[in-house]
Amino acid sequence: TIVVSGLRKSFGPLEVLKGISFSVQTGEVIALLGPSGSGKSTLLRCLNHLEEINGGRVYVNGQMIGYREEGGALKQLSDKTISAQRKSIGMVFQSFNLFRHMTAVQNVASGPRFVLGRSRDEAEARALELLDKVGLRQKASSYPGELSGGQQQRVAIARALALDPKVMLFDEPTSALDPELSQEVVATIKTLADEGQTMLIATHEMAIAKGCADRVFFMVDGEMVEDSPAAEFFANPQHERSRQFLALHT
Ligand code: ATP
Ligand code: MG
Repeated sequence: TIVVSGLRKSFGPLEVLKGISFSVQTGEVIALLGPSGSGKSTLLRCLNHLEEINGGRVYVNGQMIGYREEGGALKQLSDKTISAQRKSIGMVFQSFNLFRHMTAVQNVASGPRFVLGRSRDEAEARALELLDKVGLRQKASSYPGELSGGQQQRVAIARALALDPKVMLFDEPTSALDPELSQEVVATIKTLADEGQTMLIATHEMAIAKGCADRVFFMVDGEMVEDSPAAEFFANPQHERSRQFLALHT
């Protein structure tokens, strides 16, 4: 589960997250929608402490991320503790960020080997299972440069899954891809959704929101203006800005 309460984040004078609160239950899939600049990426980055926060609390599976309370104030945790916390939070970005000099299977095995200290054989055996899950077992020995964008993104998803994250965060996983390649990635995310993987997905791809999400969060200007079951969001959006957004994107 993810619990966020009163989350605030500013860049200098610009307040980008203005007191965000929500919770996500285990197994839930959330589509995080909103206009460009509304704060979606910043919110995801705060969830695994890629950004320092200016107020509020973030908990993943009951553990406060990035900080501990000390006499009512928040103290930042050590880098080592923060790295340990990040193991349970997988993140997939728009640009796939694979290691160029490693094959697909080596990319997927890299976390278990170098972060968890598993043996090469054990890590690669598990990596092959994960490549199978994303439909790429036959590409195990290919380098990123030999894969399409959609294939690279699926390797990136498998790599994030290799640490058995409790929660997966996706930031525009399909927006660098042509529509047909994007479909492969949507199908992979749908498989994970059906398996009960907890996911929070910032996206402009309505196929993800409609086909995979249980709930939709809609952000405008650093505020969460709507939190609705996905079917309700699409059938009967509550907020004026949600209606405008849907008119543009569907
Ligand atoms: P998009 O849909 O275009 O990806 P977004 O909803 O993800 O947009 P963010 O990237 O979270 O939006 O940005 C929210 C606001 O914070 C924007 O005004 C952006 O310019 C600002 N911002 C983001 N990162 C930084 C930074 N490192 N320094 C200063 N301002 C930033
Ligand atoms: Mg963004």
